[in-house]
Amino acid sequence: MIFLDFRLSEEQEDIRRAARDFAEREFKKELIEECDREEKYPLELMKKARKLGFSTIKIPEKYGGMGLTLIEECLITEEFYRVSPGLGNACLSSTFGTELIILFGSEEQKDKYLSWITERNGISAMASTEPEAGSDVASVKTKIVKEGDEWVINGVKTFITNGSVCDFVLVLGRTFEGKKKHEGLTFAIVESKSKGFKATKIKNKLGLRASDTAEILLKDVHVGDENILGDPGKGFYQLMEFFNHTRPRIAAQGVGIAQGALELAINYVKQRKQFGQPIASFQYTQFKIAELATRIQASRLLTLQAAWYCSNGQPRPELSSMAKWFAGETAVMVADWCVQFHGGYGYIGDYPAERYYRDAKIIEIYEGTKEIQKQIISRQILGRL
Ligand SMILES: Cc1cc2nc3c(=O)[nH]c(=O)nc-3n(C[C@H](O)[C@H](O)[C@H](O)COP(=O)(O)OP(=O)(O)OC[C@H]3O[C@@H](n4cnc5c(N)ncnc54)[C@H](O)[C@@H]3O)c2cc1C
Repeated sequence: MIFLDFRLSEEQEDIRRAARDFAEREFKKELIEECDREEKYPLELMKKARKLGFSTIKIPEKYGGMGLTLIEECLITEEFYRVSPGLGNACLSSTFGTELIILFGSEEQKDKYLSWITERNGISAMASTEPEAGSDVASVKTKIVKEGDEWVINGVKTFITNGSVCDFVLVLGRTFEGKKKHEGLTFAIVESKSKGFKATKIKNKLGLRASDTAEILLKDVHVGDENILGDPGKGFYQLMEFFNHTRPRIAAQGVGIAQGALELAINYVKQRKQFGQPIASFQYTQFKIAELATRIQASRLLTLQAAWYCSNGQPRPELSSMAKWFAGETAVMVADWCVQFHGGYGYIGDYPAERYYRDAKIIEIYEGTKEIQKQIISRQILGRL
């Protein structure tokens, strides 16, 4: 089936408008610059966005969320990232990982952890990556093993979004050796106040510097059965399903960055004069703007299409990966041209073009690099060779 009806409902248009208004009003230039310069997590801003429901959009109403879908989440994401990718990430990724609980959690886990998010401004995280297990996530070395009545967790996780500001994190580790390395992995929900949990903020990131990223050390952390997500040994498959539902949101981040960078470039080429005329009057500039705008629109449609399938309970892995790869490449390309149109001024930190350029690159890296997305797409088309 091919989905072709892209009209947003009135409610969805209202949500998009509300997100745009919030971002334009609350993402103040000084805050954007301060958080980027000082790598500061904007906690108060995150709480403000949380209060209005922007980051709890997919959490069911029963647990205090908005009970909406990935489509609305993508609309909000685009609008937030359009104004500031760094602040947008800090606000919207504050519930990262909760999708795993929504998809696979027990009633008790949903009640405890989703309500923690909605009632007490809780911050979540998802930790699969390790120093030696990135793209090859099935090779994680963290151990989650049963000892008596409890589960004991030991390992190191790296590049974890919200790692040093989170209240709980969904940790992926090995419980047993299966026939294949994808078998035997398990997710455990670990609270950051647990004995043996230590997070260290990773500094000096290229971009998204308002977002918290940390290394997490887990040393003899104990949790009970009630903190194990679904059946032990199913963690890898849960993670792949999770990514099907979250990659369209990363694609929407890319669309937002690209849209913000394009608007910045358009303003600049209209006012900057060389050879006695605005640089927008050169045909090369006009054609490039047309190409970039077309690419953004294609990325947006692909993103919403992937989100539509997820929202209707039939995620399409190849579409989620197509959207993430294409929108990521578009973000990097448009941010690059935004700097180029600004000439030397684009290269200087006082101008926002430089920040979009630094922020865009992550879309091609996290939640699976662009090479991994192409691997997923080609496997869906060609099968495993
Ligand atoms: C800011 C930031 C936030 C992040 N947040 C999180 C988080 O919240 N939780 C989490 O678990 N992780 C997180 N990550 C980790 C991120 O998902 C990984 O960095 C990413 O998956 C790549 O893994 P790696 O860094 O180990 O690179 P590697 O896997 O070592 O890849 C290095 C290069 O080799 C290429 N490569 C690898 N395998 C293949 C292959 N089979 N074919 C072709 N090319 C290949 C890759 O595409 C890449 O170009 C974050 C990373 C960053 C930078």
